[in-house]
Amino acid sequence: MTLETHLGDFFALESALSTQEQELIGRLRAYLESVRPSLDALWETADFPTGIVSGLSEVGIIGLTWPETAPFENSAEFRGWVSLELARVDASVATYVGVQAGLAMGAIGMCGSPEQRAHWLPLLGRGEKIGAFGLTEPLSGSDAALGLQTTAQRRGDEWVINGAKRWIGNATFSDICIVWARDVDDNKVKGFIVPTDTPGYQATKIERKISLRMVQNADITLTDVVVPEDLRLPGATSFADTAAVLRATRAEVAWAAVGASMGAYEAALTYAKNRIQFGKPLAAHQMVQDLLVKCMGNITASLTLVREASRKQDAGDERDEHAALAKAFATTKARETVAMAREILGGNGIVLDYGVARFFADVEALYSYEGTREINTLLVGRALTGQSAFV
Ligand code: FAD
Repeated sequence: MTLETHLGDFFALESALSTQEQELIGRLRAYLESVRPSLDALWETADFPTGIVSGLSEVGIIGLTWPETAPFENSAEFRGWVSLELARVDASVATYVGVQAGLAMGAIGMCGSPEQRAHWLPLLGRGEKIGAFGLTEPLSGSDAALGLQTTAQRRGDEWVINGAKRWIGNATFSDICIVWARDVDDNKVKGFIVPTDTPGYQATKIERKISLRMVQNADITLTDVVVPEDLRLPGATSFADTAAVLRATRAEVAWAAVGASMGAYEAALTYAKNRIQFGKPLAAHQMVQDLLVKCMGNITASLTLVREASRKQDAGDERDEHAALAKAFATTKARETVAMAREILGGNGIVLDYGVARFFADVEALYSYEGTREINTLLVGRALTGQSAFV
């Protein structure tokens, strides 16, 4: 099977994937096209497309990183293409996968015991259990390494967790949440698999969002939540381990930003070819072509950058600043691109019916989560200069 090249993939870079990879991407693309018609309405009502949980698991893209759940051995670059493909149709769907497969499964895959991996990864991969990743707090976002206040206190073979979390994706309906908490004895950040039906755990949906409205973000309170020692992630002994999980998924958010940009660009191109003003299609006006070409420049520059970041990861040669530069650059350019795509549609750019407005709104959240532009810029700045300018 040879994939048809997206209009937004100017150099047909996706065609370099193997036949096996192209087949899986092709199945994913067909599945996403089948759900696309329902998405605008769900975005408007801020409801989650529940059918995608089993649908995406059946396609086989949940848990591509782990031998327990991957249909075949694959690369970070391939997983990037999967993120792009998801976000090209919808960034909320890409975010669900980022949380379920990237952050929740990633924390267990990277920091879990063999028993935890064997138990949880297949359940999460099949979508039989839903995961969330609770790091951010009401009073601590960008400064999570220093400012995280949720506490964990060892009591015999148990831990007692107290604190609050904010913005936690999937958390209104997840079965487990990976909770990051500071051990009061050694002051180190540790990770716990917290079943969400544990007494003292409460998740409340964050309402009135203007971006990624289908993603179910929650405020969580943890009041004397007791978990057994065998639900602590043994490989998470300090914030450096939390950061390693985030590093692995950050590049995938950069790929998602490229996907959302492509989705907006392709809708704008179609519109420009069909809408007639001054007796000819918008696409035949020089200034509209200028916008389309700027979109294409942004997408192509971002795509080649995120691909290089993932190739570094595949070569085992990735540093924090590689993923950070990819994320900061791709999300900044995505913001420009969706704004230009929206401009091409005039007034119709701000209504959901024409295929651009949803991307325009959703890119705002991609810009801020998994490290804001400023924080990723500071990571790169530190690498360039040898000077840390965070505080
Ligand atoms: P703040 O840290 O308060 O920052 C506010 C502004 O100040 C930003 O522009 C920031 O860049 C800037 N700033 C902060 N410090 C500095 C500095 N030193 N120098 C310069 N500028 C600075 N978290 C989870 O744990 N799990 C999730 O599943 C999750 N999902 C999310 C989904 C969505 C839709 C959103 C919006 C957020 C999600 N988050 C999640 C949280 C996300 O990671 C944080 O929003 C992000 O880290 C920024 O933290 P903050 O919002 O508290 O902003």
